[in-house]
This record gives sequence, structure tokens and C-alpha cells, in this order.
Amino acid sequence: MSTARTRPPLARPPIVQAGAAVLRGAAFPVPPEEIESPEFQSLVDRMIATMRAAPGVGLAAPQVGVQKRVFVMEDREELMARLTPEQRALREREPLPLTVVVNPELEVVGEERALFFEGCLSVAGYMALVERAREVVVRGQDRRGEPLVFRGRGWPARIAQHEFDHLGGTLYVDRMLTRSFCANEHAAALLALPVAEARRLLGA
Ligand code: ZN
Repeated sequence: MSTARTRPPLARPPIVQAGAAVLRGAAFPVPPEEIESPEFQSLVDRMIATMRAAPGVGLAAPQVGVQKRVFVMEDREELMARLTPEQRALREREPLPLTVVVNPELEVVGEERALFFEGCLSVAGYMALVERAREVVVRGQDRRGEPLVFRGRGWPARIAQHEFDHLGGTLYVDRMLTRSFCANEHAAALLALPVAEARRLLGA
């Protein structure tokens, strides 16, 4: 998942862009014996480096052209520096340590929902309002094949749902309020508004 930015994206981001079939197929489970292989470890390292370079807060294997069920997440203070304390609190956005999830399953906790703008490194240059569950639990394996349970609320839950969607061939544009789809050049103005006001302006 991307952070909304006001500067234009790189002309040729090293990330697969929407329209590629690899982003629309279902990714395949990673066999236990493959997880510790040098090839798989190298894939995970490449995903982490690509996410950080973008920069983004999450990346799924199909976004680097690999149809395997693995994603990475990480959110850092520097990536949320543009948000006011109030915006951060509303989004429940807190630093998220680097997390690698292999073969994830996702469970929604409770019925609370949250609606905010989000973007995707595979739909570079845009963002839109997407409703997500406020809290989720992800179960899978870590990069060593050990059992992993990740419980996220607020922004980390949003990131997890976005990345999990990638493994099933779903992009946020499939879930967005279509009229809220906007270029990042409008991000600063729209993100400064309460979500309800942004919706009113866009008719979303
Ligand atoms: Zn994405």
C-alpha cells in the first residue's frame, strides 16, 4: 500500500502496475520446504527493499511479478510525518514494525468499519476512499516458517487487508468509492478535510 504523496511518482516505478495479469490472478501457497530456500529468502529481501524504496507501507509478491502468497508491511514515523496529530489519531496510524507474512489467512474482528483514502504502489499516482474493517487478525507463517499471528487495529489493519487482497487478485479500486478516485496532486487538499467533507466535494 502506498502513502498518499503530493509529488509525482517515478516515471517507471520498479513495481508491476495495474493492467498486468499477475495482479489479477490468485497467488499460490508457498510450500513449507520452500520458505527457507535462498530463492524465497531473496524474494522476501527484494520485496522489503522495493517497499522501502518506493516508499510504501506494504507490498505483496504479485507486485514484483511473483504469484506467491507472501506480503510485507512496515510503517515508520517518517512516512506519517505529513499528517497532523489529529489525522494520525483518526486513522489510528502508529509505527508498524517490519512484518513478513507467508501463506496468510485473514479474519475480521468485530463489525466496526473505517473509511479513509488509501493508495497502491501498483496504481501509482492515485488514491481513493476505501472502507475497511477496523480490526483484523492475520494468521500465517513468518519468513522462517514459524507460526505467526498478527492482530491489527486502525491503519495496520487497513494495510493488512490491502496486502491480503493482492494475493487474491483484488486491488483497492475494486472496493473504492469510485467517485473518490483522485490523482495525488489533490491529496494534500483532500486529506486536510474531514472524510465527510471530502465525500461531499467529490459526490462520493
Ligand atoms: Zn497495493
